[in-house]
Amino acid sequence: MGDDAARFGFETRAIHAGQKPDPRTGAVIVPIYQTSTYAQDGVGGTREGDYEYSRTANPTRTALEEALASLEGARHGLAFASGMAATDALLRSVLRPGDHLVLGNDAYGGTFRLIDKVLTQWGVEYTVADLSRVDEVRAAVRPETKLVWCESPSNPLLGIADLAALAGIAHEGGAKLVVDNTFATPYLQTPLELGADVVVHSTTKYLGGHSDVVGGAILTDEDELREKLFFIRNSAGAVPGAFDAWLTLRGIKTLAVRMERHCDNAELVVEALSAHPKVAKVFYPGLGDHPGHETAAKQMRRFGGMVSFSHADGERAALDVAANTELFILAESLGGIESLIEHPGRMTHASVVGSTLQVPADLLRLSVGIEDGTDLVSDLRKALG
Ligand SMILES: *Cc1c(COP(=O)(O)O)cnc(C)c1O
Repeated sequence: MGDDAARFGFETRAIHAGQKPDPRTGAVIVPIYQTSTYAQDGVGGTREGDYEYSRTANPTRTALEEALASLEGARHGLAFASGMAATDALLRSVLRPGDHLVLGNDAYGGTFRLIDKVLTQWGVEYTVADLSRVDEVRAAVRPETKLVWCESPSNPLLGIADLAALAGIAHEGGAKLVVDNTFATPYLQTPLELGADVVVHSTTKYLGGHSDVVGGAILTDEDELREKLFFIRNSAGAVPGAFDAWLTLRGIKTLAVRMERHCDNAELVVEALSAHPKVAKVFYPGLGDHPGHETAAKQMRRFGGMVSFSHADGERAALDVAANTELFILAESLGGIESLIEHPGRMTHASVVGSTLQVPADLLRLSVGIEDGTDLVSDLRKALG
């Protein structure tokens, strides 16, 4: 697949973009180029585009970056050692002392921690806003605002932000809209098409998809930002190894079929939970009464595999459910083939307790996997008692 990859459908690009058979051996699958360095033609004789050293570039990583860029419809892709490494590189590429960013009130806990505990030490300021409320975001933007940082659907309450509207507000104020697209994946939502300037991923989740690798990525059309990101990554060194890049690339090939099944199973789980007397509230953007339902329907292909719900009998009862599922494994993370359950208040979101990002204590979050959906529903029914 050449430079005209955009004419192919998503599933085709996931398998072929950046992944031509190996020119030397014909290997159909991109090899794991497990090498730190590369022979040069002569002193200073490396040609533009050739490889010199694997912190700077590695062919397996390049294949991953081209595939990711193709799926998000971006001109440039950069892979990182983790989602947080990608987030860190982006924040440090764009923000200077005195700059300001606007952040969602249910941002990923690690993103909030990095901004609140690290970036503020370097003189960066931030405001937390409810990103589902356009007027609140507009009021939070200042002359010094350089970034509006958005997750939609958000974590763990599955809030929905109108990405096209947020892009408009960010651009009016001379800021960039960044979308952490980890929950939706490019199969369900392509933020750059909706006006966002940058997409960030934790490829650890759905893109890798098998809970066996940690990684991150940034996608953008902007040449200047790409150069800054490349410079920071090469300077600081937060790159994925060749094997990690290969595992992620392997996961991406089946993203479309996995996401369809994640969505099918999430819908079954949502239906069962909504009818259950022990469940006070189900949070899922596919539900007609979800406040972001219409926006989600406009900007997403389907509504994803993440579901949260609050237990009618409070935190103790919620903890009991998390302790009593058989198939849903009690664990952090999400987006793998296996189903996971967790208690955000004490697990993924423990670092935001006492902050504006605190989450309800009776809340449980599910990453609905691709097992037999009826098995998953029975497992939850049993654990709920
Ligand atoms: C997991 C996650 C991250 C952080 O990614 P790592 O790969 O764990 O560093 C960032 N944003 C979201 C939405 C995530 O779920």
